[in-house]
Amino acid sequence: MKATIETQVCTKCRLEKPLSEYQFRKDTQKHRRDCKDCQSKYQKIYQKANLEKERARVIAWQKANPERCKANRKAWKEANLEKVKANRKAYYEANRERERNIQQNWVRANREKCRSYTAKRRAAKSQATPAWANLQKIQEIYLNCPPGHHIDHVFPLNSPIMCGLHVENNLQYLPAKENISKGNRVTLEEQLNG
Ligand SMILES: [Zn+2]
Repeated sequence: MKATIETQVCTKCRLEKPLSEYQFRKDTQKHRRDCKDCQSKYQKIYQKANLEKERARVIAWQKANPERCKANRKAWKEANLEKVKANRKAYYEANRERERNIQQNWVRANREKCRSYTAKRRAAKSQATPAWANLQKIQEIYLNCPPGHHIDHVFPLNSPIMCGLHVENNLQYLPAKENISKGNRVTLEEQLNG
């Protein structure tokens, strides 16, 4: 006896194909009426159309809600600080030369601004130095700074969250590279001038 292969005509491409070319639906216990080729082809078209629709919807919403959009982005950044930092670091590592040039050019083109930053920082430092600060100890810390390191304020002096103090136990040694990657332009300026 010759085994006959059961076939079916696809509702989309109108070709007669064996049943194995049709997806078997567990829910209806029947094969789909359109073949696997057509199914995946139309699925792709549908997904693409919807993706564009979805993208357009998001863009329209962003345009209509710039403030909420900004707040959302900010909230996301705050909730994903580590990720943001890692991304920024990875980007910097991948574009080290370029980033360094940009920073150095910025410093050269903005001497005045840098000077005012330095002045501001100095003022902040003196303002952040309470009467009880151990000036001798602070000086020792500065004098003993290992080569290739900078003095860093654990709690930054100008932090919007919590202003650090210029006191001995708020100081730490940081490898110079790390301190610069904290976005410390003054340090870079000091480096260029020094
Ligand atoms: Zn078909």
